[in-house]
Amino acid sequence: MAVETALVARALLAIGLLCLLWTATGAAVAQTPVQTASVASARMMPEPARIGAARLGDHGNKTRFVLELTREAPFTILPDASGVAVEMEAALDAALPPAKGLVKSVSVRPGAKTGHLRLILATTGPVRVQLAEIIPPRDGMPPRFVMDLAAGKAGPGAVLTPASMMNPPVPKEKPKPPLPMIVIDPGHGGQDPGAVAVSGAYEKDITLAMAKEVRRQLLATGRYRVALTRDKDVFIPLRDRPALARAKGADLFISLHADSITGRQVRGLSIYTLSEKASDREAEMLAQRENQSDAIVGMDLSVQSADIANILIGMSQRDTMNQSRRFASLVLKNLDPNVAVLPGPLRSAGFAVLTAPDVPAILVEMGYLSHSQDAKLLGSDTHRKRMAGSLLRAVDSYFTGNAVPPRS
Ligand SMILES: [Zn+2]
Repeated sequence: MAVETALVARALLAIGLLCLLWTATGAAVAQTPVQTASVASARMMPEPARIGAARLGDHGNKTRFVLELTREAPFTILPDASGVAVEMEAALDAALPPAKGLVKSVSVRPGAKTGHLRLILATTGPVRVQLAEIIPPRDGMPPRFVMDLAAGKAGPGAVLTPASMMNPPVPKEKPKPPLPMIVIDPGHGGQDPGAVAVSGAYEKDITLAMAKEVRRQLLATGRYRVALTRDKDVFIPLRDRPALARAKGADLFISLHADSITGRQVRGLSIYTLSEKASDREAEMLAQRENQSDAIVGMDLSVQSADIANILIGMSQRDTMNQSRRFASLVLKNLDPNVAVLPGPLRSAGFAVLTAPDVPAILVEMGYLSHSQDAKLLGSDTHRKRMAGSLLRAVDSYFTGNAVPPRS
């Protein structure tokens, strides 16, 4: 297209024509008005607009033509054999500006209609009108007609509607999009203590302390909004947790847990996303344990697996699962090297708490409370800060898309 354009431009120059390039094909357009502003408002005003000043500005890649007006006036942009013309219902009180930028001369003659004048801008080559509009009076400045010309080349022309020409949109402060909402879900609570550590500590207290530290670190950046599914020792049914995330308009959901296995020296962190079919037997058993929370207070679990199956169908359509998996791997990549990790730490199973269909969600088993070292670390302030810092980096990576060196 660029070559074709160059050829067209050269051909036009060769035959001595300086035409207004308007269409996407780069061809010169016919001598017909291409833009006509509404005159309805002008009819209501008895006095014609007067042009008090006219000037050209060379802005490097564009040349700006400005007319100061006594009031807003309808205008039409026309292609002209020598460049481009502006037909306007106005009278000229000002001197015309000398050559500048792409404009080698400005001349004036009567317009097609009574009371109109035509300002002709002879240009140094084919030009394209990037912008032509009336700027309403502002900051003590009178209304102005502004037209920007760029060197002509193929491409989308600046086709402005009459409405936009007469009533240029006032640039508004775009409302800032709300900060991403991160919902942190401290596992268990109230009558449901979760796993019990070898030290006697409860999972529900460890998860709550961690959730508060994650909230503190996320909020400290000023980049996120944060909500907790609980911020005290209360029981929240499993299905209420994803519901709460949705109600909050969550962009990410992080459920925090700490597992326990009887009589085994298993330790390390693992990260789970939702799937109908568990990635492995251990993940399946873990999901069963975590899904028991509601049974502790006598809630019916029979609909749970059907729920998960249905939700999975919807989730796969909404890309939520892909986003969940992406976030899970970012947590792993950003993990503090001091945090022990379970072999094959990225797993999936049917966790009831991960079932908000449109909220990317992970469940982090931060370690094993049945392992003395893990249990000790999960109760320590230093470890808590490290773990929360890891989650913060993962959240940052998730929202910025920054590449993070893989964990070695
Ligand atoms: Zn748990």
